[in-house]
Formats: sequence, structure tokens, C-alpha cells
Amino acid sequence: MSGIEEWSDKNSLNSFNSLKGLAYMEHYKNILAWMDGKAKLMPPVECNIDPYAECNLSCSMCIVQRYLRTHREEVGEMRKLPTDYLYRLVDFLASWGVNGICLSGGGEPTLHKGMVGLPEYIVSKGMKASIFTNGTVMTEELVNSLLTCQFVTLSINATDRETYKQIMGVDLFDKMLANLKYIAKRQKELNSDSFTCVRMLILPENCRQIYNMCSMAKEIGLKGFNIRPADYERSDIEGHHKLDLPVDEIYEQFEKCHKLEDENFKVVTTIHKFDKKFHVFNNFNRCLASPLLINVLSNGDSYVCADRKMEERYRLGTSFPEPERILNWWGSEGHRMKLLSINPRTDCLCRCTFNQYHRQMEEVVIKDSMMLCFP
Ligand code: SF4
Ligand code: SF4
Repeated sequence: MSGIEEWSDKNSLNSFNSLKGLAYMEHYKNILAWMDGKAKLMPPVECNIDPYAECNLSCSMCIVQRYLRTHREEVGEMRKLPTDYLYRLVDFLASWGVNGICLSGGGEPTLHKGMVGLPEYIVSKGMKASIFTNGTVMTEELVNSLLTCQFVTLSINATDRETYKQIMGVDLFDKMLANLKYIAKRQKELNSDSFTCVRMLILPENCRQIYNMCSMAKEIGLKGFNIRPADYERSDIEGHHKLDLPVDEIYEQFEKCHKLEDENFKVVTTIHKFDKKFHVFNNFNRCLASPLLINVLSNGDSYVCADRKMEERYRLGTSFPEPERILNWWGSEGHRMKLLSINPRTDCLCRCTFNQYHRQMEEVVIKDSMMLCFP
């Protein structure tokens, strides 16, 4: 799939472009040397923290619904990271050499009272902060904090109350809309250059609202719009199946969305991680790139990747109560053997967030398919 359909020429070097992976060449080479037993594993580029394993919505396509709803016992007693621990974790990650911290879910991070002030603290330690939120829980203090993030992703999946309720399971549409407007207003007042972006997942219920959502985000004064297929095929989603979507109609809306782009509003219609009908498409053979990122879940445990959270087979270790415990298992023989034992073709029946990065490592680093000695 050509990049032209996903973003405009002017906006081709955006953060959703998986070619970004090639900028991690030093990490790619280090990971491969480590997997061959010839190097010590570098710290990850990013840490993804899930502060709270609860959510006030109940989305049909939620990729963590297994442990939020149906198998809640998988999380165990501890569903929330203590605030003082979050600060100690940030201290450790900064000193370890991690560059970015994303506050996300496993749940809705803004339900955790410790979120106010945390992004500023991350930035004060020389790292970049980001957050994913459903936008339903906002206060002035929280919004001020969030606007210090490099990006704020607002996961919104409907442009009217009925559809919102149908997809998100709860009637918080009006509240969410008021919050988006407030975020845009504060962003102007604070002159914040945070990339405040609405992210929508394509579903049968909302696939005719894509253009409306994009215009709504622009009209409100947010900075961007990202649309991508929902991963409804992953085996841990209740009633998972291949979605049958009106593909041509969706592409037409994508085109219209791109016409809304200007200097202050960016549009990315992500499809390169899926096939042309928006189905899961993993074109790589080995799990190689996962050490670019470490996740810390609400119980202090870490797993191989964001797509395999709370699955015992993919558990790497814990960083609770002392964040330094990460050093006991990060880059260990157990970590290495775990990655070597994964067969993505049979083990990972879901969209793999890092699918393009694994492929780059196979093609560009191992096979040198881009002939890197010839710029
Ligand atoms: S808002 Fe996010 S975490 Fe909450 S139910 Fe929806 S998809 Fe899941
Ligand atoms: S989904 Fe599978 S292949 Fe992809 S990073 Fe996770 S474990 Fe590795």
C-alpha cells in the first residue's frame, strides 16, 4: 500500500509512518547482536505505562477487554500503580536512558489521580511524555498537565450519541465533546504545541462517520485526525471475527479527510499494518523489535509487547515495588529465550503493533535489501 493514500506529501514524515523504525538502526543492530548472544541489550526507547486497569467505558473493540471485563482475575489484586511508585519509576527510566514515556491503558489512565503533574515531571527529567485517553474525564489541572505531552491521543469512535453508546457501551458523548472543546480552548490559551489528535478505529457502526469525525476534530480546533482499522480479529476479543467493511466507501472518505488537512491540522489514514480490506496482515517471521519498548502494567509486571499483555507466556518480569528490578530480567537469558521461542505466524493471531519494525529488521538489517552502503 503506497504511503500517498495514508498521508499527504507534505506530511509524509509523520509519527505514524513506520519508516520511523529505520531511525532505530542502532537499536535494531543491538537487538540482533543480543539475540545472537553477542551483546548486552540496550535500554528500550520508550516505556509504556498502564497506571490503572479500570475503565469507565466498555468498548466493543477494546483490545484489553479480556482482563478489564471477562477475565479480571488475570490482573490480580493490584489494579493501580501507586503515585509515589510512578514518580520513582520515571526517575529510574530517566537514569536508565529511556527517551519517551507513554501513559496509556490497560484501562483509562486519566481515572488515576496521579496523572495530574506526571507529564510535567517526565518532561522535567529530559524525556518526552504522551498519553492515550478516551477524553471523558478532564479537569483544568489535568488538561494543563496533558498539554505538556508531545502528543495527546483522544480515542473517540462516534460523532453522535447513539453510535457512541453503541460502540463505547456508555452514554458519555456530551461529556466527551465538551472536554474536547475545552482541551482545544486551553491549548490555544497556553500556546501549547502538543499534537492533540483524535484517533478513530473503523467499525461497521461508525464506518460512515469517518469524514464527519475528521471535520469535527478540525472544527473543534484539535491538531490532527488518525483513522485506522480496529483489530477485531484478535482471539481474546469476545465474538472476534473478520469485519466486513464497505472498503471503497471508506477510501472515498479518507480522500475527503485529506482535503481537510492544512498547516494546523494533520490527517493520517493508517492502513499499512493491515491488508487492503483492513484485515490483519503480518508479513514477518520473527519477533525481533519488541525490545524497542518496555511496558509496565498496573500490577508492576511487564510483557513482551502491548499486544500480548497479561498472558503468562509473554510475561518478562516485574518492576514493583522497586523499579530497579527491571535490570534483573531486561536482556537476561530468559528474556532472550522468550523472544526466540515466539513464532508470530502461529502464536500471534492479532495485529502486531510492531509488524513493520520486525520486517525492517529482517529485510533491511539482516538481508541488507536496501543496500545501505549506497546512499
Ligand atoms: S476507552 Fe480504551 S480501555 Fe476503555 S474500554 Fe474503550 S478501548 Fe478499552
Ligand atoms: S504480537 Fe507477537 S510478534 Fe508482535 S511484538 Fe508481540 S509477541 Fe512479538
